[in-house]
Amino acid sequence: PDASALARAESLIGSIADYPEPGVVFRDITPLLADAEALRATIDALLEPFAGQFDVVAGIEARGFLLAGAAAVAAGVGLVPIRKAGKLPRPAASVSYALEYGTAEIEMHDDIASGTRVLLLDDVLATGGTLEAGRALVARLGGEVTGTAVLLEIDALGGRAVLGGDVHTVFHA
Ligand code: AMP
Repeated sequence: PDASALARAESLIGSIADYPEPGVVFRDITPLLADAEALRATIDALLEPFAGQFDVVAGIEARGFLLAGAAAVAAGVGLVPIRKAGKLPRPAASVSYALEYGTAEIEMHDDIASGTRVLLLDDVLATGGTLEAGRALVARLGGEVTGTAVLLEIDALGGRAVLGGDVHTVFHA
């Protein structure tokens, strides 16, 4: 990836205090997405360690979709959406996981071919629960997660350990 474009990409990630609730610092990637060179460099950096190691990209709703579409086209592979519960039109598998308050559930259509190699993508790694659930979902459907990558890792929240240290991160906060 283009190092200067990558440096600009990092500078374009916003930090919004107390959104969506008091005490949370929301990491806003929309200025990065809006910049053509920053977006290209970021997608290149996300994909860099995984060349030839995946058959599809799976993006987690909603901001993971924004990266997954671009990454799939850049890598020349297809895209599988992992959606919040109740949104997919055909038979799907689901996995529930704990949030700080309550639970969340994600789903994926149950028709991926057994052994499909999946690169799992999301925008931000916080506590790791979302990506861990994504991995469980792919595994339940007979796929193989050969890579997990995020644009931004919030180091202090410990998600990396939850993922067994096995996650590729472009930027850290
Ligand atoms: P977690 O499951 O705790 O790793 O949370 C990751 C998911 O929540 C990702 O899909 C992110 O989009 C979102 N998320 C969590 N914390 C933040 C944050 N501070 N800023 C932006 N998105 C966040």
